[in-house]
Amino acid sequence: MSHPAFDVRGRTALVTGSSRGIGRALAAGLIQAGCDVIVHGRDPERAAAELGARHVAFDVTDADAVARGLADAGPLDILVNNAGIQHREPLLEVSEADWCRVIDTNLTSAFLVAREVARGMVERGSGKIVNVASLQAELARPGIGPYAAAKGGLKMLTRAMCAEWGPSGVQCNAIGPGYFATDLTAELVADAAFDEWVRGRTPARRWGRVEDLVGAVLFLASSASDYVCGQTIFVDGGLTAVV
Ligand code: NDP
Repeated sequence: MSHPAFDVRGRTALVTGSSRGIGRALAAGLIQAGCDVIVHGRDPERAAAELGARHVAFDVTDADAVARGLADAGPLDILVNNAGIQHREPLLEVSEADWCRVIDTNLTSAFLVAREVARGMVERGSGKIVNVASLQAELARPGIGPYAAAKGGLKMLTRAMCAEWGPSGVQCNAIGPGYFATDLTAELVADAAFDEWVRGRTPARRWGRVEDLVGAVLFLASSASDYVCGQTIFVDGGLTAVV
């Protein structure tokens, strides 16, 4: 029998960007643990039907759409801010529009969604917010400057949320995934030299599997983490621990 502190049965959770990839695996993990999960994306019907869950569709970069979508979703016990995009181009060539798109989707989105959700959590005196940052919140790599800036910002936004909402019983934390094979990284997985670099650079000697992230999110979504606030847990096969 699992420890009662990890029991999330009956809690309502929204995972943004759960139509595929990491978000979908996190939604599936929370469903398996007994949560009532709301699947989200711009087009989440199919994933929701496959997972047997409710769904809500909105663009996380559109504040009005976020407010409308969350009103439809109703009160939440758990929010996972996972929606995100990548843009690979050297900083000298990045347009302002692409910079803003990456910052809006990976960073501003977490603020917009959490701002709506946390109002209710603060009022009720409880809630769990988990932001999906990245190893790039700690380490930069050439060609993904806007993404690294957004994820570094998300790590600090997590601390700011902790500072403001922690006193009301809302725990805000983040996970920092390493390299995981999803649509977002398909280009890198297919690149033999990059694949070899990831395997060599990661002490676990492999890419992450999306299921590898479920345990950390269940911990941060359950009362097992009630005294854990403002932290980023790196789930990266040890990559950020070594040079
Ligand atoms: P995917 O590209 O596979 O999935 C991205 C998800 O985000 C989709 O569900 C997509 O929904 C949603 N999304 C993107 N833009 C928007 C938007 N404007 N409005 C609503 N939903 C949106 O990515 P991953 O699963 O790989 O990544 C998920 C998160 O994990 C991201 O934040 C990413 O930065 C982070 N991460 C990923 C790593 C990896 O190696 N894969 C490593 C570290 C962090 P739709 O179907 O509508 O497009």
